[in-house]
Parts: sequence; C-alpha cells; structure tokens
Amino acid sequence: MAADLNLFITEATIEGADDGPLAGTTVAVKDNISTEGIRTTCGSEMLADYVPPYSATVVDRLTEAGATVVGKTNMDEFGMGTTTETSAFGPTRNPADPERVPGGSSGGSAAAVAAGEVDVALGSDTGGSVRCPAAFCGVVGIKPTYGLVSRYGLVAYANSLEQIGPIAGTVEEAAAALSVMAGPDPNDGTTRDPSEVDGATGSAGDADYAAAADGDVDGLTVGVPTELFDGADERVVETVRDAIDGLVARGAETVDISLPSVEHAVQAYYVIAMSEASSNLARFDGVRYGHRADADGNWNETFAETREEGFGAEVKRRILLGTYALSAGYHEKYYDKAQDARAWVRQDFEDAFADVDVIASPTMPVLPFELGEGLDNPLRMYLADANTTPVNLANLPAVSVPAGEADGLPVGLQLVGPKFDERTVIRAASAVEAE
Ligand code: GLN
Repeated sequence: MAADLNLFITEATIEGADDGPLAGTTVAVKDNISTEGIRTTCGSEMLADYVPPYSATVVDRLTEAGATVVGKTNMDEFGMGTTTETSAFGPTRNPADPERVPGGSSGGSAAAVAAGEVDVALGSDTGGSVRCPAAFCGVVGIKPTYGLVSRYGLVAYANSLEQIGPIAGTVEEAAAALSVMAGPDPNDGTTRDPSEVDGATGSAGDADYAAAADGDVDGLTVGVPTELFDGADERVVETVRDAIDGLVARGAETVDISLPSVEHAVQAYYVIAMSEASSNLARFDGVRYGHRADADGNWNETFAETREEGFGAEVKRRILLGTYALSAGYHEKYYDKAQDARAWVRQDFEDAFADVDVIASPTMPVLPFELGEGLDNPLRMYLADANTTPVNLANLPAVSVPAGEADGLPVGLQLVGPKFDERTVIRAASAVEAE
C-alpha cells in the first residue's frame, strides 16, 4: 500500500539517541533537508546523486532528542508546486484517496504521516508547503514564525519566506517536535530567541510547545477574515465554519475582520519567490553542484545543457520569470512592487492582531486535486496558495489542523498568530482537534 503511494525518494536510517523527549519516535525528512551521507535530491534530476557532507540542524536536534530518521520524502522539485507532481521521481498519492494529490510541496511527508508510516515528518513551508499537504492529507502541520527554526542545511528555494516545520497526526505530537527543533542556531544568522524579540510572547528557553496543546480557548478572540473565505469551495467553507463554531462552543469569541492586502498576496509571493529562486538556483551549473551534461562544447554550452537536462518544466519557468522580474528596467515594476505589497500584508496582520488573538480560515480554498488536474494549468495551482502565502509574506506562525471532511476528503483549518506566538495557535488548533 505505502509503496504504491510513492512516499519516499530514499529509505535510509539515522538512529536517534537512546533517550530524550522523542525517544521511539520515527521521523521522515523532506528531501530538501540535508542528511549526512544520505542523498538529498530536492525532488530533482539535478541532485539525483547529491550526498550532503553534513546534516541540517533540525535533523541533528531531532536525532539527539531520540527520534530516528527513516527516510527522505518525495516533494515538488525544489519545493516548487502544490501537488508533489513536479517531482522528478513521480507523483505521491494521497492516502485519503489515491486518485488525488497529497498537496505540496511536502506531499511525501504529509502522506507518510497520514498513511501511518511515521510519527512525524519534516516539511518546508515557503508559501504553504507544510500546511497545504497537511490539509489535503488530513494531518497537522505547523509553519513556525520566520526565525524560530534554523534553516541551516535546508536547500534554499526562497530564503526570505521559508521555514522548516513539523507534520504529525496530532497537534501535540507536532508541537513536541517543534519544541526540539526551535531556537537560535549559530549557523543561521536569521534565527532568534523569541524571549529577546520585542512584543513576542514566546520563549525558546522553556519552549514546551506541546504543553500549549491543552484545548483551552476560553476567552480567546478569533478573527475571521472575509477575504480568505471569498471564492473558496462551498464545501470547504462550510466545514471550516462548523469547526470555528466548535471553538465558540468552547468559550472562544469570533470577530469578522478584513485584511484587504491579502487579495494581492499571491501575486506578490510569486514575484518574490521566483526572484529569490532564480538567484538561489544559479549554483546548480554542473560545476559547483549537481548533474553535469555530457557536452563537449564550451563552458556556456555545458552550462545550458546541464540546466536543460537537470531541471523540470516548473523550475525552468520560475527561473525565467524570476530573472525577468529582477532584470534592469523591470525590477521597479515587479520586484519592488511586490516588496511594497509584502510590507502592506505585514501591516494588515499587525493591525488585525491589535484586536484578535488568532485568525482562522480555510488552509486551502479547494479540496485535493485529482492527479494530473493541475500540471498543465500553473496559474490555477498558484491561485490555490491564496490563503497560505500571506502568512509567509508576514513571517507569522500558522497551523493547519483537520477541520473535518467534505465528500469524504480532508479539509484543513488554518490558524495564524502574532509573531513568535506559536503557543496561541497551537492551543487553538488543539481545541479544533478536540471537537
Ligand atoms: N505552492 C507554493 C509554491 O509553489 C509553495 C511552495 C512551498 O511552500 N515550498 O511556491
């Protein structure tokens, strides 16, 4: 069964320490997170034979805490996708319905948890890639505040947006993994100790996030933004609204809010993500890293052929668009504008959090796509990220938690919190789960 789902690109073990808070826990690692001695392909032909000389900080922290790594999971190539179909290693299937996609880009990770193959899986979330597959597969995914979790050893797609996050069957299990992963890392200068961040309520010093999964939402104010419900599939909206009613039944209060900027978030996200990608992926030239074409021409020809062979269509599209958006004469029109939109999105959330504790919405505005449905319509795929990408633009923490099912398919509810307030989103998510 699990073999048919195409969950893993490589099955290999890194033994965990004998004891620790995660002793006995099995972990699957997305294949863009480095594992010493175990190939790390990023779902790409380009890195099909790449074996990193060191492990990512998160992998070291998890194994030191007792978790055992069992394999590297399938993913959209370099994290670019919403379905896990852009992988050079074939698509992963959704355990809830094998004719449908598991979401992406961390589809192998979420599906491995949903199929019961592992306790916890790591994903990376640049524009929703932990939350989307968690929603589509009916499991829990946490996208931490930017800077809470080290990105050292994560192969970069768009550095200013991404965080590594845990996926698990329950909020508590995902939060327990987060506790181990979180906190400053000398190897990643963007990491922060939450207790030293102005206005942040978290504290990495006693980062027991699992303890926050107590289901207690009495007195919590939940903001419900109209923009993140408009245009969503009605079956999704109904399931999510029912779950929010469940929070009210447990003592929370809801407030309708407006986040006008989020209408532009997905456009801004794609301009920024593609621009950063075009720069990050320049290193895959057949000289420094990766596959090298067997071309006997000059360096330019070898370079071109290497990239022609090594990258798939979606990655090439993004490198081209990103290069264009950054080029002289156009960057004011695209990249600079996208940065302005990003600042506006950040401000909108900050204003909203003056009045509410968390913001609730559907994670994905749609039910899981059928296999093959999205591959020839990239724009449709991009628009499916409308609710997840604003969170990355604003650097905020968010959880996707199962809200129920519609037509037998999982529906995810997204909860977003103020920066470094993972505790509040974890608490609210555990209340949704308890309903
Ligand atoms: N679907 C989005 C994209 O393709 C998000 C990807 C991600 O978070 N890695 O860019």
